[in-house]
Amino acid sequence: TAQKETLGFQTEVKQLLNLMIHSLYSNKEIFLRELVSNASDAADKLRFLALSDGSLYDGDADLRVRVSVDKEANTVTISDNGIGMTREEVISSLGTIAKSGTAEFFSNLTGDQAQDSQLIGQFGVGFYSAFIVADAVTVTTRKAGESTGVEWHSQGEGDYTLAEVEKEGRGTEIVLHLREEEGEFLDDFRLRGIVTKYSDHISIPVEMFKAPVPESEGPDGEKIEAVPGEWEAINRATALWSRDKSDISDEEYKEFYKHVGHDWEEPLTWAHNKVEGKTEYTSLLYIPKKAPFDMFNRDRQTGLKLYVQRVFIMDDAEQFMPSYLRFVKGLLDSNDLPLNISREILQDNKITQAIRKGCTSRVLKMLDRMGKNKPEEYQTFWNEFGQVIKEGPAEDSANKEAIAKLLRFSSTHTDEVTQNVSLEQYVERMKEGQDKIYYVVADSFEAAKSSPHLEIFRKKGIEVLLLSDRVDEWMMSHLTEFDEKQLQSITRGDLDLGDLDDEEAKKAQEESEKEVEGLVERIKEVLGDKVKEVRFTHRLTDSPACVVADEHDMSSQMQKLMESVGQ
Ligand code: ADP
Ligand code: MG
Repeated sequence: TAQKETLGFQTEVKQLLNLMIHSLYSNKEIFLRELVSNASDAADKLRFLALSDGSLYDGDADLRVRVSVDKEANTVTISDNGIGMTREEVISSLGTIAKSGTAEFFSNLTGDQAQDSQLIGQFGVGFYSAFIVADAVTVTTRKAGESTGVEWHSQGEGDYTLAEVEKEGRGTEIVLHLREEEGEFLDDFRLRGIVTKYSDHISIPVEMFKAPVPESEGPDGEKIEAVPGEWEAINRATALWSRDKSDISDEEYKEFYKHVGHDWEEPLTWAHNKVEGKTEYTSLLYIPKKAPFDMFNRDRQTGLKLYVQRVFIMDDAEQFMPSYLRFVKGLLDSNDLPLNISREILQDNKITQAIRKGCTSRVLKMLDRMGKNKPEEYQTFWNEFGQVIKEGPAEDSANKEAIAKLLRFSSTHTDEVTQNVSLEQYVERMKEGQDKIYYVVADSFEAAKSSPHLEIFRKKGIEVLLLSDRVDEWMMSHLTEFDEKQLQSITRGDLDLGDLDDEEAKKAQEESEKEVEGLVERIKEVLGDKVKEVRFTHRLTDSPACVVADEHDMSSQMQKLMESVGQ
């Protein structure tokens, strides 16, 4: 009854395969990392389900992944005894791309191979990387608890076949039929090297077969016993995060990140902490180098995995990180939460809250440190994630001051579009007698930079922050103070320059006001209801007039933002 069925790949898969084969060729050995990483995820998932249904182990609870070669057949095989896949899961996982950010990724492709190959790294390569080295791939899988298996076969072109098959033991076996020129991967020594390089941190054993040694004779004719062949683990097979910090190299941290973060790039930085005391947990938190394609999707998933006593519980544990830090990837391992914890219970749980608080301040500290010690790295971070951090003051008022320290702005100090001025730097440069931090918000950097409101500040040499991002107005409505200094928009209400206004200038103003007596009244008559008030100003030095918002009115940017959401 084993009927073979042919199914077409989703268009995007074809595109991805094509791109991958051409652009990742110089890095082809990573296929093994990806497949071992998937096997480890499959073991995690089975262990989780077995918490509530131990029968899923079916007498085989030693989870592991095995790598072997067949020189005759020209194949490399990766097999695991993890969760396995049903027919439906095979179709959705190995026939389509279900990842979040897929639409955004494909809309970013240009058709230019060099440019697109950069993007593919960012998107993550995963299972399909098998086709970098193989011209045919056969996946045989049986889901834990099911009695029959499925065989998936493809040459990596337009389609694949599916058939129902018998499979001994649950889990997934992937046979790569190597392309002719990829014979190097048949070499046992080479494969061991790759596993050690990329997968040492995998927490289940990665095993290779140690060949048997036949019985032999020693130099004096004595008999040397035969040694039977056996599977042996070639990695450490302990959870990396449970090891001592001093025992983990940067390289290991980076490789581990690629596995947990499903990322291709190295992380920008990370923090690994064991917290003891009232709540006990370990956190390993990474800051990626690149923002994902769907950073601003409302239903975007976070990148935090939750473990309880080293047992994987769930992906996307968003309860442990505020939304403005949703770019953080990594994991938490709690000693206190019960193994049967659910998302619902996590929601309002004291332990969750304590961990979330701890992790939030860890990340803020890690970023602050990066800003101080590695300004170039921090600039990379800010350019990618600054927009998200700017949601912070509104979301997390308890950490407002710490978040404010992380902000970077364009400013009249340099007049450059790059946002690289911190509030601390601004405060250091404040003039004698200046007690406020001045800023202007406009629709674009150019508009902010050439705002007529700036004239008096430029003349007096007072620095003004130039804001023009969509979130800026909203952010500033929640950020009114820094270092005990008020943040003041220069386009709002009465501009009181305080001690910065000198006496002489004041006198000159009064005189010039007299000279044009009656002008303000005449303008008021002409404009009528269109304005609230007409005022004489000394803000301007070159422009004759400008429009200002009242202290409590919506600014023009805010009005536009509201209109754009249909208010
Ligand atoms: P990712 O690992 O980022 O989800 P992959 O392309 O590596 O993306 O894998 C796609 C999906 O295929 C996985 O999410 C998983 O559902 C399924 N899968 C791949 N390999 C295995 C495996 N060995 N066992 C069970 N499921 C697997
Ligand atoms: Mg994967």
